[in-house]
Amino acid sequence: MNEYSAVLLRGGTVLPMDDARSVLTGTDVLVVGDRIAAVGQDLDTPDGALVVDAADGIVMPGMIDTHRHMWQTAMRGYGADWTLTQYFVWFYLDHGRLFRPEDIHAGNVLAAIEALDAGVTTVVDWSHGLRTVDHADAAVDALRSVPGRHVLAYGNIQAPPAEWTAAPEFRDFVARRITGDDMLGFQLAFDVTGDPAFPERPAFEVARDLDVPVTTHAGVWGATSDDGIRLMYDNGFMTERTVYVHAASLSADSYQRIAATGGSVSVSTESEQSAGQGYPPTWAMREHGIPVSLSMDTSVWWSGDLFSAMRSTLGADRSREHLAAHAEDRTVTHCSLRAEQVVEWATRGGAHALDRADLGTLAVGAKADVVLIKNDHSPVSFPLLNPYGHVAFQAQRGDVHTVLVDGRVVKHEHRLMGIDLAAARRGVESTVNHLRAAMGEEAWRTGMNPDIPETKVLDNPYTYTEYRSAATHSGTVGA
Ligand SMILES: [Zn+2]
Repeated sequence: MNEYSAVLLRGGTVLPMDDARSVLTGTDVLVVGDRIAAVGQDLDTPDGALVVDAADGIVMPGMIDTHRHMWQTAMRGYGADWTLTQYFVWFYLDHGRLFRPEDIHAGNVLAAIEALDAGVTTVVDWSHGLRTVDHADAAVDALRSVPGRHVLAYGNIQAPPAEWTAAPEFRDFVARRITGDDMLGFQLAFDVTGDPAFPERPAFEVARDLDVPVTTHAGVWGATSDDGIRLMYDNGFMTERTVYVHAASLSADSYQRIAATGGSVSVSTESEQSAGQGYPPTWAMREHGIPVSLSMDTSVWWSGDLFSAMRSTLGADRSREHLAAHAEDRTVTHCSLRAEQVVEWATRGGAHALDRADLGTLAVGAKADVVLIKNDHSPVSFPLLNPYGHVAFQAQRGDVHTVLVDGRVVKHEHRLMGIDLAAARRGVESTVNHLRAAMGEEAWRTGMNPDIPETKVLDNPYTYTEYRSAATHSGTVGA
């Protein structure tokens, strides 16, 4: 733990994420032990406290990501040009089995460090590469080795959920590793195919028996549909703690069932925009009154910070609103989705999804997961006029100055504390070397460079230059 008895963040612009969406300027936040002890002006400094000058900065709760395949961070950026089809082929069919327990460990360690660095203090590790319990033990070992708050969402894409949840070694794992510690929560992670025989029923029953939530990729174009939602609903498996990931291509009827049963949707806008699950559904969530949290999905393609998630979510929602209006020859004069709403989704929204009222807020008594956004060396740090807008559209991970998790300082003055980045790098390098050798160079290269569909350049009577940009260029990365 800290060498400090307390931490005082002095004189910042504080976003406590209360119901009023308050903005408190020139305000101190005092952390004692693992809790928020006080929020106010001119607080006394306890003896032995670390005092952090938060002037010109924004103090807010740690952000919460409700869906991140942390094991895949070992392949950071590899799938930048993929669609969902290429992802499924690569991970589910061709190469997911190549991941050894140490590879799960390597990806998880790097992902956990990356999250802390960006002020994401709680991550749901949507861990669907756990094809043996040794893999699961490695995942937990990794999460335990980094001082973030995690929820292991246990999954295994290589076997039917009814099979792996019934295995005695799975139940043994739960008994051994999931001990009720509030730094490591637990969910079951599997998808519902829509097969009318409902083969996922036994897995839902295991979740009910263990009293843990289910998180499921729902409304993924071409993969999961309204059929799965209907089966879950008709069999009584939609609960307030169920998290529906993406929910991007469902009918109004499915959204109504989700709303009526009190579940929440984890929106991964960067993912939905480029992989093809469906349009990022925040517009539909607003219409149906469904609670939203944010997530980044996987670093195989996308950025592991929620600044990008907030920014892309605002952009996608507003873009759709404008296009829908233009199609009716109307002009949108007032944006429906506001910056303060996406900041709330990135904090309280995640806490709600995880049924953790003590997270995602700076209320006195809440867990001390705190982020200070402040960068005195950056021309983007001022003027600080609209703090919610600043968080959503101006700030970046490099502006994350200080991070506390459970009262512990894990990043300070832009530097991670007590983190062995060199060891994380060695782990990931070893995984990359293993995968590359096991796949072979040809498969490695073609996996990263999917074919580009032919683009026909339209005839243009005004064309007078030989230059073509997108249509004729075809590069291969890492050849
Ligand atoms: Zn996912």
